[in-house]
Amino acid sequence: MYDDVDEPDPGDSGWQDDANCLGVDPDLFFPERGASTREAKEVCRGCVVREDCLEFALRNGEKFGIWGGLSERERRRIRRQRAQAARSIVGA
Ligand code: SF4
Repeated sequence: MYDDVDEPDPGDSGWQDDANCLGVDPDLFFPERGASTREAKEVCRGCVVREDCLEFALRNGEKFGIWGGLSERERRRIRRQRAQAARSIVGA
């Protein structure tokens, strides 16, 4: 019935094919607590699918690692800001 509808699949992860981190040691993106995230973020900086990656992580509540160039803490901050913005819209 919806064969003609050309909507993106919300679970689509085709963007991963263009990831800058393909072939890069995954441990870099899941550093030990307190270890540097600088190298991982450097890889992300030049990644063309950074936005997709970040949204994927936010949507899926990824709690660990560097996604879209952001750490867990940085993603938590974005989630909080979005939740706050959503509450202020509802409360407006
Ligand atoms: S943003 Fe970083 S973690 Fe995400 S796909 Fe690109 S290089 Fe990989």
